Amino acid sequence: MAIIGAGPIGLAAAANLVERGIDFIVFEAGDRIAASVQEWGHTRLFSPWKHLVDPASRRLLEERGWALPDPEQAPSGAELVRRYLVPLAALPEISSRVRLGVEVIGLAREGMDRTRTRSRAATPFTVRTRDRQGKIEDVAARSVIDASGTYRSPNPLSASGLALRGCPRSRNASSPPSPMCSAVTGRCSPEHTPQSSAPATRPPTPFWGWWSLRAARRAANRAPRSPG
Ligand SMILES: Cc1cc2nc3c(=O)[nH]c(=O)nc-3n(C[C@H](O)[C@H](O)[C@H](O)COP(=O)(O)OP(=O)(O)OC[C@H]3O[C@@H](n4cnc5c(N)ncnc54)[C@H](O)[C@@H]3O)c2cc1C
Repeated sequence: MAIIGAGPIGLAAAANLVERGIDFIVFEAGDRIAASVQEWGHTRLFSPWKHLVDPASRRLLEERGWALPDPEQAPSGAELVRRYLVPLAALPEISSRVRLGVEVIGLAREGMDRTRTRSRAATPFTVRTRDRQGKIEDVAARSVIDASGTYRSPNPLSASGLALRGCPRSRNASSPPSPMCSAVTGRCSPEHTPQSSAPATRPPTPFWGWWSLRAARRAANRAPRSPG
């Protein structure tokens, strides 16, 4: 199986596959584990540890002497990575199957174009990847788990969910989301990033949408009121 992304969900998927004895490979576009979480490592999560650790991952880690941090405390993103995700990814059953700096750039059913439906569901996938040197490779996989998250697909809260004209949008894993545009002032601001974490193609989760809206409102309140 192929897993796209070595964030919290991709690594939890890996741990569950280890327990089931299913072989897999994890492709991570960033050059480190949980690259997206590391982008906002300075921020404290709202979820405490007891809600952050996947049961299969916990079982594998505890076999190696790992202990769950204070279950009622909420870690920062950096603590989540350092105390949980890095040790998880370092387990030999997982580390040998993680490819860092390898981005999935395409996904298709082997030998099929989009017009063919016959036997489609039973046909393996071709996962097209690109590494840091630009080398492109096609890898066969029986199934694919998309754990690529939403961080690299920002959904701007500006008019119609489109980036304001003149504001470039970066999709580079190694850089934070692009300078955002203030829906209030109509200007690009490198500091304020009011955006939903949900990509435009997926419905936002209610809670996360609410959180983003609050962040947008705070940013709006900080923005100068004079037209400009
Ligand atoms: C400031 C902040 C605070 C948050 N606090 C909480 C919280 O308290 N509780 C909570 O539940 N959630 C919180 N979240 C949401 C949190 O980001 C997600 O719950 C969690 O990170 C989702 O994990 P994931 O593995 O699905 O995605 P991500 O963490 O986004 O990981 C996806 C990984 O996939 C990689 N990737 C992406 N595209 C590709 C590709 N094409 N090829 C290869 N690799 C790729 C990325 O580099 C990344 O490492 C917070 C988010 C932010 C920004």
